[in-house]
Amino acid sequence: MPVLSTTRVKSRLEVRIHFRNLLSAVLPDADTASINKKLKDRIRGSQDLFLSHEIMLRPVSYESLDLPELKVLDAAILGASAEQKTLRQAFTPSKNEAAVFLVDAILDPNGMPISGSALPEYGAVMIAKYASSWTFGHEIGHLLGIEGHTSSPRRLMYEDTAKIEGIPVLVWTELVTMRSSAFAQPVV
Ligand SMILES: [Zn+2]
Repeated sequence: MPVLSTTRVKSRLEVRIHFRNLLSAVLPDADTASINKKLKDRIRGSQDLFLSHEIMLRPVSYESLDLPELKVLDAAILGASAEQKTLRQAFTPSKNEAAVFLVDAILDPNGMPISGSALPEYGAVMIAKYASSWTFGHEIGHLLGIEGHTSSPRRLMYEDTAKIEGIPVLVWTELVTMRSSAFAQPVV
């Protein structure tokens, strides 16, 4: 790193993320490179947004898991059902690291599809395959401690990420919350 960048680098934090793909379209012999490229395209907007605030959303591993019972997830994943236990056993990231599970669908308690869900207690985020391009960043926001939603579609924490307008805003209080999260660690 050039000396001039030292100040910026000092303040940069990273969120280490393990991706686990549960999509039914993924076969054991699927072309990992092309899957990775699709995934990268999907998360790039959110990565760029966070990086503009010195938070790096850093993929550190990627793996497809053949767990048919988890391709459609009950959003109330914190409970004690067999499905919920299987998910938690499927992958437990290291302390202060996150896991992002890509699934076919996520259903709310009424059986309605939702695009994403975050479980800070387990370091986990679920993203449905029909999620918008901002869902990843939005759920990472929840993972990093932002609770609730805003009423402005100009902000990342607007409830319906599919209706976010343009490149969304992260406000100061949201950044302070996220930067103080245990998942946001100094870059080593
Ligand atoms: Zn939300």
